[in-house]
Parts: sequence; structure tokens; C-alpha cells
Amino acid sequence: MRDDVTNRIPYSCQTIDDSDVAAVVAAMGADFLTQGPSTRAFEDAAAKWTGARHAIAVANGTAALHIGLQALDVGPDSLVWTSPISFVASANAARFLGADVGFVDVDPKSGLIDPNTLEEQLAKAQAQDRLPDALVAVHLAGHTTGFDKIANLCDKYGVTLIEDAAHAFGAAYEDHPEIKVGAHPQSALATFSFHPLKSITTGEGGMIVTNSHETAKRLAELRSHGITKDPARLSVARPDDGAWYYEQHTLGFNYRICDIQAALGVSQMARLDDFMAARRDRARRYEELLKDLPLERPKPSETSSWHLYAVRLKDTATRRALYDGLNARGIETQVHYIPIPSQPFYRYLGHSPGPGADRYYDTCLSLPIYPRMSDADQDRVRDAIGDILGGV
Ligand SMILES: *Cc1c(COP(=O)(O)O)cnc(C)c1O
Repeated sequence: MRDDVTNRIPYSCQTIDDSDVAAVVAAMGADFLTQGPSTRAFEDAAAKWTGARHAIAVANGTAALHIGLQALDVGPDSLVWTSPISFVASANAARFLGADVGFVDVDPKSGLIDPNTLEEQLAKAQAQDRLPDALVAVHLAGHTTGFDKIANLCDKYGVTLIEDAAHAFGAAYEDHPEIKVGAHPQSALATFSFHPLKSITTGEGGMIVTNSHETAKRLAELRSHGITKDPARLSVARPDDGAWYYEQHTLGFNYRICDIQAALGVSQMARLDDFMAARRDRARRYEELLKDLPLERPKPSETSSWHLYAVRLKDTATRRALYDGLNARGIETQVHYIPIPSQPFYRYLGHSPGPGADRYYDTCLSLPIYPRMSDADQDRVRDAIGDILGGV
């Protein structure tokens, strides 16, 4: 792909093969181009893989967060907490609904919400009678460290728990390796993204998984304008109203995914286990390769989906030198993420990042990782880092 042509190593890239192309071509000749049998097959495959009872496919991961929060009654009077180290969508979804947003500072080593900080912040919020209605936890890079403690705190304080699992499709919980991300018994729902750089892709796409039948029904309505044809829900049908009759009960959206995309999703799902095995293998190999270099490696994990392989440097100047030096050597890296509260939009609302988020942002760098990354490419990354940082 891109790297073969230019000899550049991307920080991430999708894995598309002939079976994916054939699946898309077949879907284009089918009777339904949008939300038909392929969408249902994609949802069934995702529910089966994660072990969640229900799966609702949508247009993208941001749409999944938006209607996920709406289905859980987040609105203008709500307060939603999330992680400052995430993509802006994690906080924006609450703002779409007019809710106030708050941030829980992260562990500067992992970039994940620090459960101890969450505990302190919840106790303080209770004393001030301003507990959040919901917490959007983010499985940064595919890691779920500390999630059980976060879930228990949410239970204790009556906070609805939502997982922004955009990075974690294919991951399992560190505290429960037998449970796949999306099927945690204490979380109300989890959302995924199928943007090209995520675990699997549908071009653009998203999914919400939940164990609640009621939430699933609401999500299906919100995805399509808030419209229902469920006979049990219709309120004013007259005797002569036929099968055409529908009613709009809430303000929903057109957040449908089309069957062409869903067919790609079904095809990609068939290789999800392979993708996970390859990413975990690359992470294991980095763990060995980078051992003697002056940087901090992420904690080894056999449950993470390894969406990112984020190392940490000793200070921000070193990080900048490594980013520029690798780029000059044809190796792309990325910074995940600029703290959401430091974005002008959130600064204007009065937010600012805590010390953990600032420290993490200053020192993190995501090295290339993707299923088809070769040993030779990984060696090249290692050698280039050694060259720039003066390791061994
Ligand atoms: C990708 C991503 C999203 C949004 O997903 P889209 O499909 O791009 O809308 C949300 N949260 C996180 C953490 C993401 O990485």
C-alpha cells in the first residue's frame, strides 16, 4: 500500500484484501443499498463476537456516542464527565445534547483516567451536590487498565457508565480477560468506530453494543429520525391506517450505515482475530526491540487491541526531536491526544487540562503499528529511534 510505493512507514493503515473487495462488489448488486441484510449481518457478527446482547450499527463512531448518550437520557440538565486525553468526539457528544462536560485527570504514564483521581473527584462532587449523570470512559490505545475500579465507583455514586471503545474493538478487559470489550456487566453501553485506522474498517462507520433491550430499541429509533413502526408503540393509528403507518416519537437523526459499508464490515470481522493477533505480536516485538532505548514503553498486554503503540519520552523537546527525526527518515508518528480541555472551544467554556493530561500530552508519541507491519519495518523504526535519541 502507501508504504510500498513511497517507502514511508505510516503510523497506521487499514488492511483491505480481495475478499473485502468482493464483498463490497456483491453488496452493490443486492436489493438493499442501505440498512438491509448486510447491516443486520454486521450487527449480529459484532454482538456475537463481543458477547453483548444487542448491536446497532450507525454512520460513524461520533454518531454512536451521540445517540448512545441520548438513549441514556443525557440532555441539557445533565453533566457528563470524560477523559481529557481522547479525540474531541468523546466530549463533543455530550455538548451536542446541551449537557455540561467535565474532565477526570489521567495517569500521566498511561493516559487513562486515574481511578484514584476519579474517586476524589466524585467525593468532592457529592459534597457539592453536583455528581455527574454519566461518565464516558475511554479505552485509550485499546487498554482497559483500572476499568473495574472505575465501574465500581460509577455503581457506588449512581453514575451511568459509557465506554468510548473506538480504540478497543477486538480487545478484552484486563481485569476479566474472558470478557470482550462491549460486554462488561456494569456498563450501559459501549461505542465503536470503523474509521480506516481503527481495528476494522467500513470506510466510515460505528456501532453501539449494549446488554439492555430497552436501550437497543431506543437506539434503533434514534438512528432513523426517532420513527417507529412497532405496533405496541403506535398511539393514534386509525382502523384504515395500513402497513405504511409510522410515528415519530422523539427527535432522531439519519445516522444509518449503508449496506455497502456493512458488507465490508462483515468481511473485515472474519479477520478480526487475525488482526488482533498481529497487533499483539507487533506490540510484543516492540517490547523487546525498544528495551535498551531511552524511552518508556507501554505496559505489556495480551488483552489490549493495540490500536496505538504509545511510548513516552523524557520531555517535550525530546518528543519533538523524535517526531521530526522520524519524519525526516520516512517514518510517520502521531500524538494522541492534545488534551480536549485545551482546545479553544473548551477553553472558552472555562476548562483547562489537569497536570496528568498536560504531562501525558507533553511526552507521548504513537509509533507505527498495524497488522501488516513487517519485522523489517519495525527494525527500521528501532534503528531510527536509536539514531535520533542516541540509544544503543
Ligand atoms: C475515532 C474516534 C472517535 C470517533 O469515531 P468516528 O468514527 O471518527 O466518528 C471517538 N472517540 C475516539 C477515542 C476515537 O478515536
